[in-house]
Amino acid sequence: MRIGVVEDDDGVAGALIDALAANRIAADRMSRGGDILTRHPEFDLVLLDLGLPDMDGIEVLRNLRQVSAVPVIILTARDDERSVVRGLRNGADDYLVKPARMTELLARIEAIRRRATRARESTSAVRQFGDLAVDLAGRELTVAGTPVPLTTKEFELLAALVDNPGTAVSRQQLMDQVWGDAFVSVSRSLDVHMTALRAKLGRPARIETIRGFGYRWIG
Ligand code: CA
Repeated sequence: MRIGVVEDDDGVAGALIDALAANRIAADRMSRGGDILTRHPEFDLVLLDLGLPDMDGIEVLRNLRQVSAVPVIILTARDDERSVVRGLRNGADDYLVKPARMTELLARIEAIRRRATRARESTSAVRQFGDLAVDLAGRELTVAGTPVPLTTKEFELLAALVDNPGTAVSRQQLMDQVWGDAFVSVSRSLDVHMTALRAKLGRPARIETIRGFGYRWIG
């Protein structure tokens, strides 16, 4: 885990980085709000001060939320209720007033980390149909525990169908979703990939053709 500390005060920033390091958490310090807007992909969590030299922390948060869901804890001297509510409404995950006790900050970091892990696990959805399993996150198909190699397009077709089990999905929708357009040449391509996918899925048939419309996953 790597934490981005956005804090313009050298003393506060230094104490934070030291305390995090003492708990084996790597952290980088930035003194300007603009820095985190470009560097956010480097971090798993952000500690954000509100009083910053180049822009207000709430403004930083608002801009950050346009491009990233990285967890943010606001750490600020502002303790009025209005600031707290504004921070949370603009996408902060938590809020601590300075000077914060390090034990409390660490407990909140840990809580956010647990939440993020749980969220990741629940989206790493595996769709199970009898002995057939489609791992949408890992992009893998297994039949009776044996991986079945699929091309990228074949997997995307499969994913689009199993994501709507029992529901008719139109050719148009599949072409839009997998190829990004619905030209006639793509229509031929869809037929070819559908045939290949069905061959790899084997028996019993898992995909039903709905004449004049599209396909349905019958798993
Ligand atoms: Ca400050």
